[in-house]
Amino acid sequence: MGVKTNILFFCLFINALCTSGKGQHSFVKEAKNGQWRKSKYDFIIVGGGTAGCSLAATLSQKMSVLLLERGGSPLGNGNISYSMENFEANLFDFDSDRSPTQIFISEDGVINARARVLGGGTCLNAGFYTRASSSEVRAMGLEAGLVEQSYRWVESIVAHRPPTNEWQDAVAKGLLEAGVSPYNGFTYDHIPGTKLGGTIFNGTGHRSTAADILVQRGNPRKLTVLLYATVQRLLFSTKDKTRPKVRGVVFKDADGAEQQVFLKGDKSEVIISAGALGSPQLLMLSGIGPAKELKSMGIQVIMDQPAVGKGMADNPMNTIFVPFTTPVPVSLIQVVGITKFGSYIETCSGFRLYETGTTKKDGIILQKVKGPLSKGHLRLDNSTNAEDNPMVKFNYYDHPMDLQSCVKGIRTIQKIIGSRPVKKFIPPSISLNKIMNSSFYAPINLTPKSTEGWGSLEQFCKDTVTTIWHYHGGCQMGSVVDREYRLFGANGVRVIDGSTFLFSPGTNPQATVMMLGRYMGVRILREKLGPSAGV
Ligand SMILES: Cc1cc2nc3c(=O)[nH]c(=O)nc-3n(C[C@H](O)[C@H](O)[C@H](O)COP(=O)(O)OP(=O)(O)OC[C@H]3O[C@@H](n4cnc5c(N)ncnc54)[C@H](O)[C@@H]3O)c2cc1C
Repeated sequence: MGVKTNILFFCLFINALCTSGKGQHSFVKEAKNGQWRKSKYDFIIVGGGTAGCSLAATLSQKMSVLLLERGGSPLGNGNISYSMENFEANLFDFDSDRSPTQIFISEDGVINARARVLGGGTCLNAGFYTRASSSEVRAMGLEAGLVEQSYRWVESIVAHRPPTNEWQDAVAKGLLEAGVSPYNGFTYDHIPGTKLGGTIFNGTGHRSTAADILVQRGNPRKLTVLLYATVQRLLFSTKDKTRPKVRGVVFKDADGAEQQVFLKGDKSEVIISAGALGSPQLLMLSGIGPAKELKSMGIQVIMDQPAVGKGMADNPMNTIFVPFTTPVPVSLIQVVGITKFGSYIETCSGFRLYETGTTKKDGIILQKVKGPLSKGHLRLDNSTNAEDNPMVKFNYYDHPMDLQSCVKGIRTIQKIIGSRPVKKFIPPSISLNKIMNSSFYAPINLTPKSTEGWGSLEQFCKDTVTTIWHYHGGCQMGSVVDREYRLFGANGVRVIDGSTFLFSPGTNPQATVMMLGRYMGVRILREKLGPSAGV
């Protein structure tokens, strides 16, 4: 099976892409004509993604912000569909260096995707919206009151209650029969049991994204957003040999020409929000990372920081493909089972997942491992070009507890498939064993499969591992950034996005990533302007 075929198959069930219908905004422009040269900024934010958009919108209330995003805008782009049903038209659009999806394949052999578009992952993702648990919020060292306010702020713009769907309802009942109880109804909260979570798709199936937060809440008088602006490296002053101070950034503009842009004053900052792959990569390209590795690539070392690129993790996902007797409408993730053994169970319907030669639309039930405990690393892939993917290895199922969570998760899915509400969707001639075999042999990854087939659920978990795209780490809190997300050992740099996470929060992370952008925006304004900053 060629890489291309695997990628195409992978794309049949990635839940993408952005929509449109809205016009352009005066402060969102392509990076052309050097308008930025005359200006200096209080903040330069690298990456207009899930965290970067809510952060920029908040900081721009009081201070000047330049947001540099390497991708284009989803707003007013008729080629990008925001509809759940319609996403397949864009799924194959990853060949161009301007398409919103950038495919990467980790060293584990798992095909993965990262965003390259204003709004970041919220333009590609399955839309499920759900908060972190209160213990996770505490573990992140965040202040509960401001977290609550920040989630609400985000929710007022992008979160919705999903419409119900007969398949999702059946899986919810199946989860309860399988013991994932109680039923907690519709809630954004992360509580053990089965629930209906939120979504960024509204009642008519139209996607809201972090770019909506930016255009609805950004202050046009203080905000400049440049598209197709790929930051290559940060610029440091090393007058103080012991503590580099950031001055600005170098980026490639929309015509591919190298440009520089500078901060205003001593209190100004560069904030990196380039995601779990982009942020550690950019620090390394700027000379901050493991010195030996950087020197071997000819990068001038500004600060030896071995922790950059470490602690990379991707929650393993294993999928059971469920054939339907009759077609079921498209639904992305709505119902989730939060088990007590570290596995989250979710479902989608209406995709053509089996190579059956029919146009029948099937479903999937998946399990995601919480955490995870298995960790990997990221390094530059012999390239000093920020547009190239770095090399990343996640070491899925390296930790035995991750594997045990998966085994229990798959057992629970088997019970769900055997439950009365779910069984009625499946042709009686198709046995559980057949479903497991088809799922085992589906061409979903490039990892070697046991030639003996799946003798055990442990083998099934290892050989069918894919991604749920919740990868994180690389600039982790405690080793690369402090509790205020400031880069250790340097002045004027923070990292605010999923790269700082020690675990993936909630069942799915986007709510917490958007919340974090808002939360840190408020804290930084209070730090710079005093507690009465007025946000
Ligand atoms: C297919 C898919 C499905 C998912 N499904 C869900 C789901 O249903 N629910 C959920 O909660 N989560 C989901 N996620 C995960 C969630 O979307 C991500 O965890 C989240 O978006 C990460 O946010 P971030 O801010 O860390 O990074 P991103 O949103 O990726 O933002 C990083 C931004 O930085 C830009 N950038 C990178 N490098 C540079 C550079 N050098 N210069 C300028 N710009 C740069 C990128 O273009 C991007 O816009 C999914 C993700 C994917 C990809």
